[in-house]
Amino acid sequence: MTERAPIYDRVALIGLGLIAGSMAHAMRRGGLAGEIVGTARSAETRDIAREIGLVDRVVDSAAEAVQRADLVVLAVPVGAMEAVAEEIAPHLAPGATVTDVGSVKRAVIDAVAPHIPEGVHFVPAHPLAGTEHSGPRSGFASLFDNRWCLIVPAEGADRAAVDRLKALWQFMGSHTDEMDPDHHDLVLAVTSHAPHLIAYTMVGVADHLRRVTDSEVIKYSAAGFRDFTRIAASDPTMWRDVFLTNKEATLDILGRFTEELFVLQRAIRMGDGDMLHEYFTRTRAIRRGIIEAGQDTDAPDFGRSGGPR
Ligand code: NAP
Repeated sequence: MTERAPIYDRVALIGLGLIAGSMAHAMRRGGLAGEIVGTARSAETRDIAREIGLVDRVVDSAAEAVQRADLVVLAVPVGAMEAVAEEIAPHLAPGATVTDVGSVKRAVIDAVAPHIPEGVHFVPAHPLAGTEHSGPRSGFASLFDNRWCLIVPAEGADRAAVDRLKALWQFMGSHTDEMDPDHHDLVLAVTSHAPHLIAYTMVGVADHLRRVTDSEVIKYSAAGFRDFTRIAASDPTMWRDVFLTNKEATLDILGRFTEELFVLQRAIRMGDGDMLHEYFTRTRAIRRGIIEAGQDTDAPDFGRSGGPR
């Protein structure tokens, strides 16, 4: 990626975890921000960010961070968005854009939009990229490369503000698309939220299974279980908030999941090999489609050993 003129003069990152940290690295890689100011809730995170030089300037409060910023990024758990929006509102610069990276969109919009003052643009977004790691040391510049970032502007949103944010994501390596918030929440319930809940459940089942000792589960961990445990290691606060705020869509998808599970359970009980084979053939085609779309690799470890994922 070649250097170019900054897209924003001053970017304020509220929260300094995986996503904000990766944005800082990606913006620096592309020369996309004149200055990056950051803050986090705890003094510990702010100190680490200062020590590793994650951003140009670390300040002690969100109110201070947003001053004279032309882009403000809310990169905190979904359940913390409203309190942060309320805190920063009186300090936002006229003409600034406020965006967020929350994994759920309707709830974030309902929580944040009422606090956005006249003359400030609110353009919600969600990068479909992440790892099971969190905190100020977990970010890396290539996290968003070739991943999608969904932009969820309100009807009548300022076109120039939306396009400018889109350009930022594109120069950070992402493809962008626009989506309605409710549709976003349903799509993500299928592609991310329900799979995470299933992974949490499967690891919980192994934990409860008294016939298999904990040490056996860990020692003989095979590909299936191992992959579930990677997902189930994701940040508990973030995922608690995702399920509390994307309740309807997640419950809808889990209902469908349960029905499918019963169909497969019955096929196993009845010894219906044809049905199982036909089902797994269809699912394999979906996996191949994901690889062909460049959204994963078919390396045996899904390419994970090659990068800081
Ligand atoms: P993270 O690594 O856990 O970082 C969260 C940051 O938010 C930390 O700096 C934390 O500060 C701060 N924070 C937490 N609670 C706060 C509060 N009540 N008030 C103010 N600041 C608070 O999380 P992340 O993975 O970057 O996730 C951030 C957002 O991105 C979430 O909304 C998540 O849904 C979304 N997202 C995550 C992923 C993913 O895979 N991880 C992918 C796409 C989108 P302290 O360190 O001081 O606690």
